[in-house]
Amino acid sequence: MMSALFSSLLDLEKSLIFTLIFFTICFSFLTLISPQIRNQALWREDTDVDLLYWLILPLLYETIYQFVSNRVLLAIHHGDARAVADFLEHGRGGIALLPVWAQGLIVLGISDFIQYWLHRLFHKKPFWKFHAIHHSAEEIDWLTSARFHPVNYLISFTAVSILIGLIGFSGKTFFILGSVNAILSALVHANLNWTFGPFKYVLASPVFHRWHHSSSEAERNRNFASTFPVLDLLFGTFYMPKGEEPFVFGAPEDKVPPGFLAQLAFPFFRTRKLESPTEDS
Ligand SMILES: [Zn+2]
Ligand SMILES: [Zn+2]
Repeated sequence: MMSALFSSLLDLEKSLIFTLIFFTICFSFLTLISPQIRNQALWREDTDVDLLYWLILPLLYETIYQFVSNRVLLAIHHGDARAVADFLEHGRGGIALLPVWAQGLIVLGISDFIQYWLHRLFHKKPFWKFHAIHHSAEEIDWLTSARFHPVNYLISFTAVSILIGLIGFSGKTFFILGSVNAILSALVHANLNWTFGPFKYVLASPVFHRWHHSSSEAERNRNFASTFPVLDLLFGTFYMPKGEEPFVFGAPEDKVPPGFLAQLAFPFFRTRKLESPTEDS
């Protein structure tokens, strides 16, 4: 059991490093062609912090995911490991009859709907302090996509995956979901001026999500969807003014510390707000 977990964590770390190199090459190239912020340095002041989020925390999420889902699935299948393996391969009930791509689309739709509302919840007290970590970056690029406090990540992503998995979708759909999420999440944070034109309601674009990172609270409380902006359109939070782009990012009024460990501890301690927020800073 432990050796299986260790080897899966090793595989995960290898794929994180491979993806890191691949994304660095792709996004560096794309950013040269169509940057949203011109002359933004490829190595920011806090890139080292985001690298730690990228390389270390997924190991924790994977460990918790495997630990919880294995136990829950074994309990549901009365301890029958073979039945669990079959469930993971094919899914369960009527859902299992659908092709994997169709299951993947449904899972993407359900998870985006749940994550939209969880995201709105994390913009309110007392949850905001956990999510403020993600909004603390004042320069945004694709690597900012990794900057999530573990409490925020485990509730918004890991727990949602486990819950949807229990409905009966094949384990393969979660491979699709994980891959789509990783690529799209990096893309929407990238320093690109892409809006996706007439498809701006269909798929989240870099400009769509970068508005969500605006330092203005009114703009920050818009564009909550991870994948499908039509959710923001439906619930009145869509914001992409024609011909405009966001230029000032972050949440300086929350005084999130710059270090990795300090950020992990930040939500658990009381902090004093700035005396006169943002006006001259
Ligand atoms: Zn947010
Ligand atoms: Zn973001």
